[in-house]
Amino acid sequence: MIKSADVIVVMPHPDDVESRMGGTVARWVREGKEIIYVVCTNGDKGTNDPNMKPSELARIREQEQLAAAEILGVKEVIFLRYPDQSLEDTPEFRKEIVRLIRKYRPDIVVAVDSYGRYIDHRDHRIALRVILDAVFPYAGYIHSYPDLFEEGLQPHRVKEVLICGTQDPNYYIDITDTIDIKITALRCHKSQVGDGARPAEWMRQWAKNSAEGQDYELGEAFHREEVRWSLI
Ligand SMILES: [Zn+2]
Repeated sequence: MIKSADVIVVMPHPDDVESRMGGTVARWVREGKEIIYVVCTNGDKGTNDPNMKPSELARIREQEQLAAAEILGVKEVIFLRYPDQSLEDTPEFRKEIVRLIRKYRPDIVVAVDSYGRYIDHRDHRIALRVILDAVFPYAGYIHSYPDLFEEGLQPHRVKEVLICGTQDPNYYIDITDTIDIKITALRCHKSQVGDGARPAEWMRQWAKNSAEGQDYELGEAFHREEVRWSLI
């Protein structure tokens, strides 16, 4: 169990993060950053196989996520275990995220973009909104949660938010040296990506596109926002 983290990566479902930013996670770990994953739902509806029981799929996906995290060097994975397709913007969910931010005190919080203006996964839309709200203002003000303060969880001011898998990128990370480990980690999610070679082809092409205009070959793109506490 680690006591503090440089980065908390919050994902709606198991497997959301390896495809979008596995190369960055591996690179950060090599640089010495402590990273925690928070997995909001158990992914128990991520199949159309009528013979797969949701409870069994949830169990499998947790194991897949742990295996992928281990390959990338993530030391801790926290499962909130909401049912798939059930996230709501509730005070309870928001408080869980605030609690983790205050406990681990990261400089960076990562969320997954909700891609589309219209059609998108509702869990992604809700999670993004709740994470941004948890970062600001709720994690940073003492009177937001007096009970957390009494538990010893001081307010914490996150410095920046990175949103992975975004269509609105303004920040790029070179993953040329970590694409292979990213693909290996992604393959751990067998229930989602199967055994074929396609994930590797897709990931390389996506990484090439994300590095366009940069002075390296393969990249991952983010939307980055500094949290300007003093100005708000
Ligand atoms: Zn997802």
